[in-house]
Amino acid sequence: MAGYDLHIHSSYSDGTLTPAELVEHAVEIGLDGIALTDHDSVDGIPEAIRAARKKNLQLIPGVEITTDYGNQEAHILGYGIDYRHPELTAKFETIMAARIDRARQMVEKLKRHGIPITWEMVEKQSNGRFIGRPHIFKALIAMDLVHPAYRRQSFEHYLGQNGLAYVPHQEIETGEAIQLILKAGGIPVLAHPGRQGNQLFIEKLIDYGLKGLEVYYPAHDSGMVKQLLDIAERYHLYVTGGSDFHGDLGHGQMGEAVVTEIGWDKG
Ligand code: AMP
Ligand code: MN
Ligand code: MN
Ligand code: MN
Repeated sequence: MAGYDLHIHSSYSDGTLTPAELVEHAVEIGLDGIALTDHDSVDGIPEAIRAARKKNLQLIPGVEITTDYGNQEAHILGYGIDYRHPELTAKFETIMAARIDRARQMVEKLKRHGIPITWEMVEKQSNGRFIGRPHIFKALIAMDLVHPAYRRQSFEHYLGQNGLAYVPHQEIETGEAIQLILKAGGIPVLAHPGRQGNQLFIEKLIDYGLKGLEVYYPAHDSGMVKQLLDIAERYHLYVTGGSDFHGDLGHGQMGEAVVTEIGWDKG
């Protein structure tokens, strides 16, 4: 399978594979390159670059920032960023601390609903310092509180936006994230616009400096792809694509959505 899968998570956020394992898998299935796009973290990039160099795979340093747009959530991908950029790394440190605080609040809410979960149980589910809803969910699974046939419903019940224990993100606004990626020399791209990518919303993000749309994505049907291609052409936006692979956490498979070339200068 040729092409580039530009949306992949590692164990440095909420994926299950390490960057080196991701590189190995990408080579196995014949991809030309991948972008590592962990949530709000660039910690896995040095390891990914080293592994990719050994295996002759192209590795695009990336990130997926969870942002607030009013009371909506928008995910902004950043490609080709200088992952050592001081303002970027400082902001990610602040976000990491806020994320942990938020995760603790969700655990407390679960406790108030009578679920005997502890913070230690949740921490055990993470390979690093990043904690998100998937780690809390894995702790619930480990406690046998989730019926295997109803995983999605259970996630929504406990941790979905209208779930028992949900706490919204309040880490960074969409415009600030786009500007930060630009400052770090990266290309800001709206992730999975099928979730909320109406044209008016995309126009607002272009005003902040958005440069691309993730057109190819497992959940986008051909009608959505066509609509997004039209918008990308109209506003001269880059067209990207990726699987949102998380390892065994039940998202897409690596290579399920790819682009055959990368539109911007990789430098
Ligand atoms: P957070 O960043 O802490 O808000 O957690 C969001 C992450 O949870 C997403 O990036 C997905 O990896 C995962 N996720 C979201 N919805 C579901 C779901 N219904 N089932 C399983 N995992 C989910
Ligand atoms: Mn995730
Ligand atoms: Mn996302
Ligand atoms: Mn993602």
